[in-house]
Amino acid sequence: MGSWLDYLRQSLAGKLTLAFLALSSLSALCGGLALVYIFGLEARLAWPLGLAILALCLASTIFFFLVSRISHTLVEMTQFAQDTNLQRLDKRVNVQSGDELEHLANSLNRMVYRLDTSMKRIQQLAFVDSITELPNRERFRLETEEAFKSNSAHDLVGAVICFDIDKFIRVQETLGQIAGEGLLGQVAERLTAAVLASDRMVRLQTSLTRPALLARTGISEFSVLLPDIREPTQAGRFAQLVAAALRQHFELGVHRIVLGACAGIAIFPQDGESGTEILRSADLALSHARTDGPNRCVFFTRNMNQRALEKLVLESDIRAGIEQGQFITFFQPKVDLDSGRIHGCEALVRWNHPTHGLISPYKFIEAAEETGLIMPLGDYIMRDAAKKAAGWLRRGIAVRVAVNVSAMQFSEDTFTAKVLHILAETGLPASLFELEITESIAMSNPERVIRLLEPLRQKGVRIAIDDFGTGYSNLAALTRMPFDIFKIDQSFVTALGKDGNAPTMIETIIAMAGGLNYETVAEGVETHEQAAFLKTRGATLGQGFLFGAPMASDAFEAHARTWAVRMDESFLQLASHEHHSSN
Ligand code: C2E
Ligand code: CA
Ligand code: CA
Repeated sequence: MGSWLDYLRQSLAGKLTLAFLALSSLSALCGGLALVYIFGLEARLAWPLGLAILALCLASTIFFFLVSRISHTLVEMTQFAQDTNLQRLDKRVNVQSGDELEHLANSLNRMVYRLDTSMKRIQQLAFVDSITELPNRERFRLETEEAFKSNSAHDLVGAVICFDIDKFIRVQETLGQIAGEGLLGQVAERLTAAVLASDRMVRLQTSLTRPALLARTGISEFSVLLPDIREPTQAGRFAQLVAAALRQHFELGVHRIVLGACAGIAIFPQDGESGTEILRSADLALSHARTDGPNRCVFFTRNMNQRALEKLVLESDIRAGIEQGQFITFFQPKVDLDSGRIHGCEALVRWNHPTHGLISPYKFIEAAEETGLIMPLGDYIMRDAAKKAAGWLRRGIAVRVAVNVSAMQFSEDTFTAKVLHILAETGLPASLFELEITESIAMSNPERVIRLLEPLRQKGVRIAIDDFGTGYSNLAALTRMPFDIFKIDQSFVTALGKDGNAPTMIETIIAMAGGLNYETVAEGVETHEQAAFLKTRGATLGQGFLFGAPMASDAFEAHARTWAVRMDESFLQLASHEHHSSN
């Protein structure tokens, strides 16, 4: 009885029915009282009044059931709304009343269906890589975080392996974005199969249960989470198996492409404090693997963190150094091997550090390139070198100044305009300016190199290929490019008299340059024997400690002025060596 009363009081149907009963009883009572007042209470009126009250009770009961159905539907819809609120988007409300309530329920169903689809799409965009349809970096990070927590709690070991696909960027630059995406798709398929096979093998051997997870975690980077391993060597073996699968060639239209992969491995929980740190450690190991050379696999060590920290300090120091003008340009003479005259010089940067003194570019150029600081630094050196050479020219010394250009400086479309602007600003004739670029820059995107360099060559700027002979260039392609000079790498010159092949290498480069009408500059000339050999074989210029070490601008100017006097003596010796070497 009590629960009925509660229901009447708490449900919408109950309240409406009570209100209906109260209202109709009140009107029946008022009607009855009016009748009694007008006609007096007569027995013949008691019957119709009783019947009317009975009819009213019946009507209230029917009304109650009708309203209670409506209210039940409303309760269902309320529950549905609460489910939606709790992200249970697979539920639907089922109303078949044929009235507005059914329309309302259908609209709600459609709305939640759309919400469900949008949520799934958002999940897809947030956690799935759109090209390969593999989990993306964020999802991989979250999974690693979970695995890290669970392994730390249960004293288990896991690993994260990051793979970088060698040469992928180059393929994309050469064949275009669409071909690059096609290749990525194939790489992802190959990796999925390889990871599955390697995972099955490792788990069969060790009866571990949690499966590996593969994700795309960077432009050319894929990562594998191995939540369960017995020992770190297992992760190493896993990485080797997967990398071996990637070394088999890919077909891309008419092209047959051979890629490779480097791998960085971090073991958890030992290599970090969280899943995110483990991923960072694996990335750090990967960057070491990349610098070690193609197809390398490197495990993270604590020492890498130290080196990364040093790099960070170096980076902020370089930034401050640029602002405070601590970088200075040194110049090293290049001497005409025939006449013995100073024909040009190479601008080489030095860092005059407030506490460490003069620092060699080998110690900071790489960090400057990685952090993008090579851009302001490179611009400064180029402008300073041109300014100094224009000053020497005004004081009667006409030497061509060569500046080293790094890959990043070359990646700017404004490069050509910038060089022309510097020449105009400093007043240095283009014929006294030279750019040294490495084989790898030249070959990374030959069309771009031609597009950026040809207008400069038209104006008279010379282009030299630095460290020639040390890269893996496609000679046919290289010789079609707009260059003027091969700089014979100093390793060949140093090897003269030590390595039987060195003379042949040098002779071949000189012959090739002759055929192309290029000049040659032999680097690292330290002895008269080396200079004599180069002169007799027809190298155009020599650069090295024999003719002068890199020096500050003033010193270079003085060196160039007095060189003619010292030259005679130097070349007398050279001539005697020449005599011996040609015998
Ligand atoms: P590089 O362009 O091959 O420069 C030649 C290097 O050989 C210079 O080292 C030079 O001092 C050194 N060298 C010259 N003659 C001799 C010799 O007779 N014997 C020996 N053993 N070495 C000799 P440096 O100045 O330490 O520069 C090292 C590298 O740093 C350069 O190699 C170049 O790749 C880079 N670099 C230097 N300055 C710049 C710059 O302004 N911009 C860029 N992007 N890179 C630079
Ligand atoms: Ca150089
Ligand atoms: Ca060089």
